[in-house]
Amino acid sequence: MLLNEEIKLDYSDVLIRPKRSTMSSRGEVKLERTHRFLWSKKKWTGIPIMSANMDTVGTPAMHKVLSKYKLITCPARHYLKENIDKFNKGENNICWFGGIEDIANLAKTSTGFIGLDVANGYTIRFVDAVKKLRDKCPDATIAAGNVVTADMTQELILAGADIVKVGIGPGSVCTTRIKTGIGYPQLSAVIECADAAHGLGAHIIADGGCVNSGDIVKAFAAGADFVMIGGMLAGHDECEGEVENGVMKFYGMASESAMDKHNNHNDYRGSEGKTVEVTYRGKADDTIKDILSGIRSACTYVGANRLKTLSKCTTFVRVNNTHNTIYGNE
Ligand code: 5GP
Repeated sequence: MLLNEEIKLDYSDVLIRPKRSTMSSRGEVKLERTHRFLWSKKKWTGIPIMSANMDTVGTPAMHKVLSKYKLITCPARHYLKENIDKFNKGENNICWFGGIEDIANLAKTSTGFIGLDVANGYTIRFVDAVKKLRDKCPDATIAAGNVVTADMTQELILAGADIVKVGIGPGSVCTTRIKTGIGYPQLSAVIECADAAHGLGAHIIADGGCVNSGDIVKAFAAGADFVMIGGMLAGHDECEGEVENGVMKFYGMASESAMDKHNNHNDYRGSEGKTVEVTYRGKADDTIKDILSGIRSACTYVGANRLKTLSKCTTFVRVNNTHNTIYGNE
């Protein structure tokens, strides 16, 4: 047994210190980024926020509204098998996660990203799967995860991933930390994995754990190239599900609800996700505008005229009694 005494941090453990700035308006901030990927050599331009590939938020209607703002949609996996045409396959701002054969086939016609994601990206079997996918699709932009440490980020990149998906346990409907005791505080995971990926010329997605636009800002400030959100997009008109008594259901992809829906129960795998009710919030459009406005405002506080320079302009300060510091006394 080893004990690492170094403190690792979550988004709620820090704030970003304001800095002198010559900027006068948040309208001056450019949120679009252009990334060129290590193995595919492809270029992508847009606002690097992604919807999680979950049933409730990875929908065609969500794709429509996210595309309007040049954000990326990761469709729920079941659309690969049915109704794939509801998404415009040729579009850049889409990232399909699924089984190797399905996404490799898709890569022949789609200009979007493809990806392999599993709850535990630490197995040799997973690394082999990434290698196999890279062999099949030399020109595709490939995302792979999830991991939370520098060593495994490097391993997945060397196996052929352009983008590594980072996050084990931070998700709003994830119960992995409670059920297994496994996890890694997300801010530290992002800082460490981004450093490892950037050293090799690759990219990362900070996946999960953002509950407000300030958390998305912190993820970018920590070095994330993309930020993936699930719960923040739940409860909207564009989501799958009904509104009942002012709430909508939002469930994890490893929850009982997902297993029931996709009929994939088995004896040795229990659920590591839950189902929650979220307040109905109307159109996703308003939420997205709110998120983008929060990021723009953050950039003006630290003097970053582009999202690209936010990380360089950031000094995090550790805070205690965080809940009260951020949300006020309830
Ligand atoms: P959120 O933005 O809601 O905090 O997190 C979304 C992320 O949670 C997803 O992108 C995915 O990585 C993760 N996730 C989704 N469903 C489950 C689940 O059932 N169990 C676990 N452990 N993680 C999940």
